[in-house]
Amino acid sequence: MNYSLRPFARTSAFFLCSFAALFVSVPACPGQSWSKSNPESGDLILINGKIITVDTNDSIAQALAVHEGKIAAVGSNEEIRKRSPKNARVIDLHGRTATPGLIDSHCHFDETSAIYGVELSKITKISEAVDLVRQKLATQKPGEWITGSGWDEGKLAESRYITAADLDKVAPNHPVWLAHTTGHYGAANSFALRLAKISPETKDPKGGTIDRDANGFPTGVLKEEAMSLVTSLIPPYTRDQQRNGLLKMMADFNSEGMTAAKDPGTEGERWDLYRELLQQNKSTVRIFALLYGGRDMESARATLARLEAQPKPPQTFGDGMLLSGGVKLYMDGSGGGRTAWVYDPWFKKAREVDTGNTGYPNIDPPVYREMVKLFHDAGIHVSTHAVGDRAIDWVVDTYAERLKEKPTKGLRHGIIHCNIPTDHAIDTMARLQRDFDSGYPETQAPFMWWIGDIYAASFGAKREQRLMPYKTYTQKHVIWAGGSDYFVTPYPARYGLWASVVRKTLNGVYGLQPFGTAESVDIHTALKSYTIWAAHQLFLEQRIGSLEPGKDADIAVWDRDLYSIPSDDLKNLHCELTVLRGKIVYRASESTLSSQVDAVAER
Ligand SMILES: [Zn+2]
Repeated sequence: MNYSLRPFARTSAFFLCSFAALFVSVPACPGQSWSKSNPESGDLILINGKIITVDTNDSIAQALAVHEGKIAAVGSNEEIRKRSPKNARVIDLHGRTATPGLIDSHCHFDETSAIYGVELSKITKISEAVDLVRQKLATQKPGEWITGSGWDEGKLAESRYITAADLDKVAPNHPVWLAHTTGHYGAANSFALRLAKISPETKDPKGGTIDRDANGFPTGVLKEEAMSLVTSLIPPYTRDQQRNGLLKMMADFNSEGMTAAKDPGTEGERWDLYRELLQQNKSTVRIFALLYGGRDMESARATLARLEAQPKPPQTFGDGMLLSGGVKLYMDGSGGGRTAWVYDPWFKKAREVDTGNTGYPNIDPPVYREMVKLFHDAGIHVSTHAVGDRAIDWVVDTYAERLKEKPTKGLRHGIIHCNIPTDHAIDTMARLQRDFDSGYPETQAPFMWWIGDIYAASFGAKREQRLMPYKTYTQKHVIWAGGSDYFVTPYPARYGLWASVVRKTLNGVYGLQPFGTAESVDIHTALKSYTIWAAHQLFLEQRIGSLEPGKDADIAVWDRDLYSIPSDDLKNLHCELTVLRGKIVYRASESTLSSQVDAVAER
């Protein structure tokens, strides 16, 4: 007889707190047995651990049982052992800490360019970028593209952009494009500028900037929409290369205790590849996919047609593994590139006002309103990229207007990045969340770290205190979803947990904590933003995001206890085991836990 699972809402009423209020336990259901347990079916017992459940009481348990991929019970060692089926795999955690599998609510889920392109995220001076391009050249024929990504002038000794002049020295006969880590600007060499027909006479395209020197000559740096003059000429990666990029990303995610992601860019073959990997049983990360809606009504209607051909969330493919989630729009640009749409001018080098530059909207604002109307009225979830205060106001006011005109609960419209929301924006989000289950920040604490030095340079002293105002959110009952925006920052969610608490920049160019700590939250709150609150923004909170009976068993085991280590140590969390729907999808090779798992598996 199968162990039947009661719906979570009912089960939770049966939770008993022990005298020490340490353990939640679920009474066994009389008459139900595990006798047909089968190790292949995802039956697993974790004992002797500190299991952080992230349930509504933030309960801690000692042990957990998994049956057929779902959490069957959470409680004390004794309770769980008593009910352990003979064939279940038993893992003694020896005091290690387990959490729900971590979730990234905004991740460009693709390591294709990390595999096949020039990787620039670790360079500290421009000559290193030039050397890496030179090495890559050796494998290319003249005329073939060299592409790379990940550089950030905030991490370079020269504190300036890479330019065409730097690249021309080594690559006079190849077109080169090196994207900035934010993805909102990049550097082309002169060969690539010529192919793109960019000359001193070329005007800035709408929503973009061609960077120029004092004499008006293009420097090679292209921002926002101007990038596409060059990037549209680069041949796409092959289907096989893209598939390898997805598989590597899934494996790497699992090695960091991560089991789900919201992917904001599933154009081209990406959606089909996700379907293919799922059918071939190769998916080890749940994906909530967004489609880009473009910049006008024509592109919006085309995207709507594609979305309407798929089931809407919370409906899924593969029993909770893949969702066609909705649409992504861009309201503005980048904080590092000073193109995001703000009320007061940007700064350069923290103190110098970038006179006259208040950024710009990516979509004509009235057109954005029409686009949101189209999607909202069709019942489609919308997530909009908005970094600047002015862009965020426009986005939340648009959502509020639509929800007033056509009140629809549960579409969970999101504000991606949501870096410096005004008080008005925060109050509006609080109201929309309460009344319509909409208006959620999908935000990246690691911006404060990985691109924190260019952020400190751009935002200026007053605004930067307001960056990612998590503490204010908690006071105003606004919940948010954490993420990395990989490739903008490294994907491991441990960095986001750490940054939410500590708010330190990578190099401390303008001080180690230019954003202050008034908006810091504790690890308990930070963990929610990477588990249950993130699950909510993937429409999966009934299945994942906490370790409670009835939910899918997505679990991460760590080498140290998140709740008791010094905050600075959160960054060094090391994942030893990752479980997805009761199956082990990752084990650290050097972990003693790993050999024990093998021993158990063989018994
Ligand atoms: Zn992004």
